[in-house]
Amino acid sequence: MNLILLGPPGAGKGTQAVLLSGALKIPHISTGDIFRSNIKQQTELGKKVSDILASGGLVPDDLTCEIVKDRLQQDDCRNGFIMDGFPRTLPQAEMFEEMLKARNQKIDTVINITVDDDVIVKRMSGRRMCSCGKVYHITGNPPKQEGICDACGSALYIRDDDREETVLRRLKTYHDQTSPLIDFYSKRGLIIEVDGDKDIESTFRDIMAALGRQPDGV
Ligand code: ADP
Ligand code: AMP
Repeated sequence: MNLILLGPPGAGKGTQAVLLSGALKIPHISTGDIFRSNIKQQTELGKKVSDILASGGLVPDDLTCEIVKDRLQQDDCRNGFIMDGFPRTLPQAEMFEEMLKARNQKIDTVINITVDDDVIVKRMSGRRMCSCGKVYHITGNPPKQEGICDACGSALYIRDDDREETVLRRLKTYHDQTSPLIDFYSKRGLIIEVDGDKDIESTFRDIMAALGRQPDGV
């Protein structure tokens, strides 16, 4: 199954992607995670994109699409993928369509997770991340041991771009450049809308139900 998770920053895309990846046995591909890991490892790509991420802007479309193209070539994508944070602009969506066509593939469903801006700003101030991809919240979804990932035991970190002024800039970027994708995918009959302002498990159940799947063990 080829899925895209769409929605503003902080909607819960990463959180849901981890759950969906476990349930559907397909990889979670987060362009944001790929960029952050390159920044941490100080690769050439990391050096190129570091200031862009810190400012809340978007990495150029060509560069972002190249990274996704490479990632799709890995073996674990043969049964599908969950895209989290990509595509984020109309040119990216068009390039992605071409990329999939060349692979004889298509997008099955786009899950649009909706959350109001004021809820997002509150969520981001308490977000804690792990390099393994798991996402926590200091009050809403805390780890068992403060500051430590339940899944892999690594120390959690706060994202540089989760400061309030950067969150507001990222929300503006979302409304200007990413929200037109809702219309783009609606016209193709691919959008499923899910309320992201419920608790994490309810949102997950709603997504699984919309995909016609039974969530077990959650
Ligand atoms: P995104 O990937 O869309 O930017 P995240 O999955 O990182 O969003 O979630 C942003 C923050 O909100 C995290 O701290 C996460 O724990 C928290 N969160 C995610 N889903 C929910 C939810 N349904 N209710 C409350 N908090 C949530
Ligand atoms: P995310 O982890 O999805 O919130 O992304 C964090 C940051 O990475 C964004 O604010 C952008 O600077 C950059 N980024 C992630 N995905 C994309 C994309 N598809 N296109 C452009 N920039 C991206």
